[in-house]
Amino acid sequence: MSNEFSETISDLVDANHILFNEQIVDGFGHVSARHPSRPDRMLISRSMAPALVNADDIVEVDLNGEPIEAAGPKLYLERFIHSEIYRKRPDVQAVVHSHSATLVQFGIVKGISLRPVCHMCGYLRETTPVFEIREVAGDGTDLLIRNSDLGRELATCLDSHAAVLMRGHGSTVVGGSIRHAVFRAVYLERNARIQAEAMKMGEIISLTPEEAKAADEANSGQIDRAWDLWRLASETRR
Ligand code: MN
Repeated sequence: MSNEFSETISDLVDANHILFNEQIVDGFGHVSARHPSRPDRMLISRSMAPALVNADDIVEVDLNGEPIEAAGPKLYLERFIHSEIYRKRPDVQAVVHSHSATLVQFGIVKGISLRPVCHMCGYLRETTPVFEIREVAGDGTDLLIRNSDLGRELATCLDSHAAVLMRGHGSTVVGGSIRHAVFRAVYLERNARIQAEAMKMGEIISLTPEEAKAADEANSGQIDRAWDLWRLASETRR
């Protein structure tokens, strides 16, 4: 096993624990990484609560959402969120999908857009797309991304953005590494909480695209500082 592979597994296990401890995922939600030496594969836990994931629970899945080893464990129904984003976006190395409450809120209010309102979410740049499953699959779905076709539609809506909201469901965030995607996922929920609270007080001022870009570049050098803290906090709680 290469060093890079074992480091990816180790970060992926930590990411599962951190995302639970930071209240981004609960019993549901998942995080994946692109395979470090096989870009046509991803690494993701078998279907289980993220806080309980260990290295043995991580499986290799291809970009059709099929496990590399047949007759393996049950997989997440929504693994196609991950596989289709990796297929469409070569720059993406990790994906977080969650149902955190404030982000659901932003996906269901007409005429409101999630914007970068604090510097930690400069990566949002301007507005955040909302995926409306009815537009591609009609009425009567269970809102889940259950197959490659729906995954492809979600990836199309994400386009070149870093995050996409999913109406009545949750959100999906991408990054250039596992730590990067986790960093973005934690601050995405915080940005949404700040924006929601501020909108009760009056008209909000968001970052300009220029400020957002500069803030994003500044933050990208600081990811390990947050990661080390969040990992310690999640280990302490276990
Ligand atoms: Mn979901």
